[in-house]
Amino acid sequence: MCLSWPVTGPFCHMSAPESPKVLILGGTAEAAAIAQAIVLHWGDSVRVTTSLAGRTLAPPALPGSLRVGGFGGPDAMADYLREEGIAVVIDATHPFASQISENARTACLQAKVPRLLFDRPLWQQRAEDQWHMVENAGQAAARLPEFGQRAFLTIGRGELAAFATCQDTRFLVRMVDMPTDPLPLVNCELIAARGPFTVDSEQSLMERHRIDVLVCKASGGDMTQAKLVAARALGRPVVMIARPKPSEGPTVRSVEAVMPWLLEVLT
Ligand code: NAP
Repeated sequence: MCLSWPVTGPFCHMSAPESPKVLILGGTAEAAAIAQAIVLHWGDSVRVTTSLAGRTLAPPALPGSLRVGGFGGPDAMADYLREEGIAVVIDATHPFASQISENARTACLQAKVPRLLFDRPLWQQRAEDQWHMVENAGQAAARLPEFGQRAFLTIGRGELAAFATCQDTRFLVRMVDMPTDPLPLVNCELIAARGPFTVDSEQSLMERHRIDVLVCKASGGDMTQAKLVAARALGRPVVMIARPKPSEGPTVRSVEAVMPWLLEVLT
């Protein structure tokens, strides 16, 4: 196989059918950046497919091919890997998407396909930050009355039900898409927006809505960090849901670190 790294452009033009296939499990900015880096540096020598769960209405354009929707569990994912002749899986899903990561671990073992986990670096707390770490959304909801009456929820759709009992809290809820069915919260305002956000826009949003406390997941990464900087500047507390334990196996923590691993596995 003719692959090398680093390179300055496409350097090895195999006919497409012979090119190894890389499956990226995506839904994150880093997954898109990894797809971009592979296509940029290896051109047609490697075929890239990104897999999305299909949770958002209009995902951003991605380099390479796209498949959308669940596989149907780990056994079905293993079948997909064999049928498609996938050479390598890169799991660049969100750190809270534990199910798909565990499925990928099992499926790759079954199908004997090498798998790399991209584990996004955690955010680092500063002395001025007022972060309150909790284990889950239920614990976050239980702590809210300590911090005031107006909460900014940036945890996605999945765990909003945990806040249904917070009768005295006014919520500002941000999601990527406007939901089509009602939210399980009695007192809330919804906004739909896709990151990245700037510190200025986050700060003015929190000021405009007179936010007392920010609730978020310990997602890490640059895309959604601005809200933490804004909370710090405004002296607001943050209730942060801790990450689940990452899946086991070979792991990298930067997009750049994917390439040498990929080169080693594919050659
Ligand atoms: P999850 O709980 O780990 O997965 C639930 C099921 O959704 C999986 O069993 C799988 O269905 C399907 N699925 C998830 N990711 C997939 C992918 N990339 N390609 C194909 N099927 C996928 O996942 P989640 O937390 O709902 O997250 C769904 C997607 O949104 C992920 O791709 C993730 O990267 C992205 N995302 C999640 C969060 C978050 O906070 N959880 C935040 C931002 C983005 P089958 O069992 O049928 O294969």
